[in-house]
Amino acid sequence: MNPKTLHKIPYGLYIVSSRSGDKLNGQIANALFQVTAQPQTIAVSINKQNLTHEYIDTSKVFSASILCQDAPMALIGLFGYKSGRDVDKFKTIKYKTGVTGAPIVLDSCLGYLEARVIDQISVGTHTIFIGRVEDAELLSSDPPMTYEYYHEIKGGRSPKTAPTYQPNEQQKKKKEEKTMKKYVCTVCGYIYDPEIGDPDSDIAAGTAFEDLPDDWVCPLCGAGKDAFEPQE
Ligand code: FE
Repeated sequence: MNPKTLHKIPYGLYIVSSRSGDKLNGQIANALFQVTAQPQTIAVSINKQNLTHEYIDTSKVFSASILCQDAPMALIGLFGYKSGRDVDKFKTIKYKTGVTGAPIVLDSCLGYLEARVIDQISVGTHTIFIGRVEDAELLSSDPPMTYEYYHEIKGGRSPKTAPTYQPNEQQKKKKEEKTMKKYVCTVCGYIYDPEIGDPDSDIAAGTAFEDLPDDWVCPLCGAGKDAFEPQE
């Protein structure tokens, strides 16, 4: 058996959100798909440890915002690497309340789906929530972010609670370049590649890690420069 075969399954990238009373939360999810067309149903796999799981389980509603390909790492970091138990993720972003009452993230999203849970299946660490689509809207004609694009181009890594997380997941090593070393965030696994820089923070390509401003933070999880170490 070659577990790398599982890496070849293509996915998109979504922000799945729900609510519990007045509290809102959302998280990045990649395991989402349409199940049936008549009626329109979708399914999403959510880790039982996540706060969004608790909210969907309670309210039986969720939304899924489809991320644009150019969505900034900071947005993915906020929804993918921070817990709603520590921060109010909806405080700093644009969202609206949908017909089901679930919040819908609008920032850097090309459209959204909203669903009411009609069934759910416990699968070990995760629950698959199956929802009937109650609303759906397109917001832009931008191309969607794919999981592959996120990994290859944006340098992202799966958080530990993602269904696709591999404990020994190896980032592809690109060719060694001069003395310009890559640095890895010890918090989230984000790799700073001086060849790419950090466009989201206006760091130009060709900027060595050492030359980053002292107040530069990991675009994915917000950790400071001291949380980084050189990649092997
Ligand atoms: Fe990080």
